[in-house]
Amino acid sequence: MSRAGPRPGDIYSPVMRFIPSAKLRPKTGRLQSLIDRRSIKRVRFAQMDATKPPPQKDFPPRLSPQAARLEGERCTSKFPPIVVRDACRCEQCVDPSDRQRNFSYSDIPRTIGFDRVSYDDDAKEVQISWSNDIPSQSQAHRSVFSKDVISRLNRKFRNPHWDLYQRPVKLWGRDTYTQATSRVDFNDYMTNKQSFAEAMHLLWRDGLLFIDGVPESEGSVSQIVNRIGPLQQTFYGPTWDVRSVPNAKNVAYTSKYLGFHMDLLYMRDPPGFQFLHCVHNSATGGESRFADTFRALDQIFQQHPMYYEMLRDNLVRYEYDNDGFFYSDAKPTVQSNDALNVPSRPVLNSKSTEISNVAHCFWSPPFVGHIPSRLAPDELVKFIGASKLLSQHLEMPENVVEEKMDSGTCVIFDNLRIVHARNAFDKNSGKRWLRGAYLNRQDFVSKAASVMADMPPEVKLGRESSIE
Ligand SMILES: [Zn+2]
Repeated sequence: MSRAGPRPGDIYSPVMRFIPSAKLRPKTGRLQSLIDRRSIKRVRFAQMDATKPPPQKDFPPRLSPQAARLEGERCTSKFPPIVVRDACRCEQCVDPSDRQRNFSYSDIPRTIGFDRVSYDDDAKEVQISWSNDIPSQSQAHRSVFSKDVISRLNRKFRNPHWDLYQRPVKLWGRDTYTQATSRVDFNDYMTNKQSFAEAMHLLWRDGLLFIDGVPESEGSVSQIVNRIGPLQQTFYGPTWDVRSVPNAKNVAYTSKYLGFHMDLLYMRDPPGFQFLHCVHNSATGGESRFADTFRALDQIFQQHPMYYEMLRDNLVRYEYDNDGFFYSDAKPTVQSNDALNVPSRPVLNSKSTEISNVAHCFWSPPFVGHIPSRLAPDELVKFIGASKLLSQHLEMPENVVEEKMDSGTCVIFDNLRIVHARNAFDKNSGKRWLRGAYLNRQDFVSKAASVMADMPPEVKLGRESSIE
């Protein structure tokens, strides 16, 4: 998690790039001698290579021509010509059918400049012709930008699809999760555009949704996943069954109590969403339990911000080492949006603003290889304290939603936000068969962005700036 490194959207500064680091600080004795030695080496190197022409004649490049002020939809900003030229999406620059670029950004001449900038106020457009444009382009090339595109050039997240992240997340607990309105009928989900968009909206907002009336068929869960995107394959196969089997290799296949956890955190890219279709259930017990880690983190941040930081700043190693399989990955308990380079999201019902910076929470004690054991002893004590606090908050009755899965119900939940657990059940009391599948988070986001226009209107929090 490097916070200091450059990020997409950062404006590259040719000026800073070519200031030798020595000029930035006073030369102390030791540093001075290092610089001297380095420059001597460079001279010798230059002498040895004196016969060969340098690969690029005027390197470092000259500074590019002046930036220009361009009018956007709501404001006027200054842009370097390279940034604006790179953004051209005309038919010459981007293939209209496959949407791939016809030029590489590396071909933009360093001497490119604005030749003429004119505005068509009726069309809300900016027309630009270039001096020293990309050589392969025809002389007639001219860029036309809508004022909306100009407004977005300054944003870290430029594509309008990122507006999805302006739709809020809602924290929930036992009394605020509305089971009655968090259910969608299978047929509506599969065939009705609005119902499907409503389901996507609920998954984005709450991360927990129930689909009812699912046919008692082995293929149903795949159908539900495929409505959104492709199944995420894992070593459990494209879909998998949860039934008690003798000598189970995984605790999910037994009938004992299964505590709060998330699936497959030992994988680098764990499933974004889990789907569990209850094909048949006549067993006693085995209720499913769910809790919103974001709500628990919001409560922890309020009471013990220091503990929250411990959860954000330390990596836990997850591991699966069994039966000829070895998977391992280290993750923080709290992963910020900054660390993932995604926009922050407004959060409803939250007590702190910090929670809008949380992208994922990773919690799966049964699959921990080891904790961050190289921490100083007192830090280690704090880390355990913070983890204990999270565990306690997740288990608070007011934070838990419980549902006995009936035959014909499929639960979908955000595997990187919602923890799930299962009460013990009596193997001999009846049949219990659940069929599960996974979906990658990016496949979910892609579909959600594409159906955004059909989603129900959302409460605007006036936090548009959060994605800029
Ligand atoms: Zn163009």
